[in-house]
Amino acid sequence: MARDPFEDKPGFSLGNYGFIVVAVILAIVAAAELFLIFRLPPENQPPAVSQTETDPAPSSPEPSSPAVPEDWRLILVNEDNPLPADYEIHLATLNNGLEFDERAIGFLERMISDARDEGLFPVVASAYRSVERQWQLYENKIMRLMGQGLNREEAEIEARKVVAYPGTSEHNLGLAADLVAYSYQHLDDAQGDTAEIQWLYEHCWEYGFILRYPKDKSHITGVIYEPWHFRYVGQPAAQEIMEQGLCLEEYLANLEKENELVADPAAWQDLQK
Ligand SMILES: [Zn+2]
Repeated sequence: MARDPFEDKPGFSLGNYGFIVVAVILAIVAAAELFLIFRLPPENQPPAVSQTETDPAPSSPEPSSPAVPEDWRLILVNEDNPLPADYEIHLATLNNGLEFDERAIGFLERMISDARDEGLFPVVASAYRSVERQWQLYENKIMRLMGQGLNREEAEIEARKVVAYPGTSEHNLGLAADLVAYSYQHLDDAQGDTAEIQWLYEHCWEYGFILRYPKDKSHITGVIYEPWHFRYVGQPAAQEIMEQGLCLEEYLANLEKENELVADPAAWQDLQK
């Protein structure tokens, strides 16, 4: 058998040419496949960034609601609206060791320091309270009442009048603080006559706080007049609530009505007639 004359010169034998041809064909096939793959609509890839995402689109008109009901600052917590079980809370600590929602603590601190600049001395008597702690307070109250001769059922009914059922206290939310005058640290109606509470009553909205349980709103809030209990709701809502003498329940009901009108242009037009 004749030897291939190119056998000993690698790269020039027919066999090697054959290999190169096959390799080139494979490369072309592979390139064609890649071309096809990348032309297919991507399944697991995020959609390509479109022009509207890179260029800010002209802003579409937002519904003209003064506040968003999902706003964390406006969460309603009362006897009928317990704190959601999955409510996540991030706390920061006041200089007296009590805790408050970290998003609002700065407003509380500034309110107190501004009051002190006026020669007043409000003290935070109570702020965040865990639901577990609320259970302790609630159970303690029941035990005391049972010690006075009430049965469990009666004691529970009485306890709920003075200690919020666990999860239904705004203190569990971390956005409420009980403020008292340093010179008069009692939780009673007379607290409302102290210079500290008078100042807070006038200025709290500037810091996003409201007097949560006003004297004439007990039938709506379900809570007695508490001149010491202030709730953070954010400045715009606080201003409206304090200026118009509303309670949070009324403000939220109004807000809901406004949003319904925004969602229903016909109803809005009817209102304009
Ligand atoms: Zn309170």
